[in-house]
Amino acid sequence: MKIIDAHLHMGADAYFDEIAKAAGHENNAEHLAEQYRARGMVHGIIMGNLPLENTAPQYPRFMSYCVGIDSRTGFDRETIKAQAALVRRHFQNPQCVGLKLYPGYNYFYIYDDCLEPFYELAEKYDKPVAVHMGLTASNDALLKYSHPLVMDEAATKFRGVQFVMCHFGEPWFEDAAAVIEKNPNVVVDLSGILTAKIPDFAAFLQKKHFYIDRMKGWLEYLDSYDRFLFGTDWPLANLGDYIKFTKEIIPAGHWEAVFAANAQRVYHLQLTEENTINRYQVKE
Ligand SMILES: [Zn+2]
Repeated sequence: MKIIDAHLHMGADAYFDEIAKAAGHENNAEHLAEQYRARGMVHGIIMGNLPLENTAPQYPRFMSYCVGIDSRTGFDRETIKAQAALVRRHFQNPQCVGLKLYPGYNYFYIYDDCLEPFYELAEKYDKPVAVHMGLTASNDALLKYSHPLVMDEAATKFRGVQFVMCHFGEPWFEDAAAVIEKNPNVVVDLSGILTAKIPDFAAFLQKKHFYIDRMKGWLEYLDSYDRFLFGTDWPLANLGDYIKFTKEIIPAGHWEAVFAANAQRVYHLQLTEENTINRYQVKE
């Protein structure tokens, strides 16, 4: 089965090295390529964390990326127009397939009118806007900005924009489900649920059954498997574990859609020999 990883991160720093190790991996493109090839993973979408000024980031060719609104220096509403001009340049780069927002970390509501220049561009260039929704990795972040319910107002106000609710808004699956059911311009990526390598998968499922049952229950309630995208949040989780976990929560009849077709459709991926893993040479 062909697999597209609709949500991962790439970065060369000690933190990424450490979390990759905990997941049983190594934080480098060669190891990632090997792992992809071994598991039928053909393409990935990087959620960007680089400065916006870097309009031609050097990512491996088997990757696309969503340009991130600089999550490290913070969100600056005074310079949105200048930022939007840079976002436009990213959108003109064929490797850029969307925009990524980090509201919980940067303290803003995604329905704020000041974001209009970004949404206008997203609509014009037909690029989805992926948003980190749900729990955050750092305790400096504020959950009121990343609660999935805030996506309702953004999706209603900016109907022409395709939103991607990252992480299914975990652990607020019930609220996320209501937002998804109401708003046809919202899809979900299923990344960010697992961290590190899981030593005993059966024991993990048993221990976390409350959480997993609820997640599965809301997936069944929605019965919209054309709106869920597989993603690993690499280097946070072990890729093999993530595939196994996703197969656990998605009925087999929908695997082709969730593991590849939905991401290809939503992010308008033009997959060729050139930008898939098959042609990627480890030592090029
Ligand atoms: Zn992520």
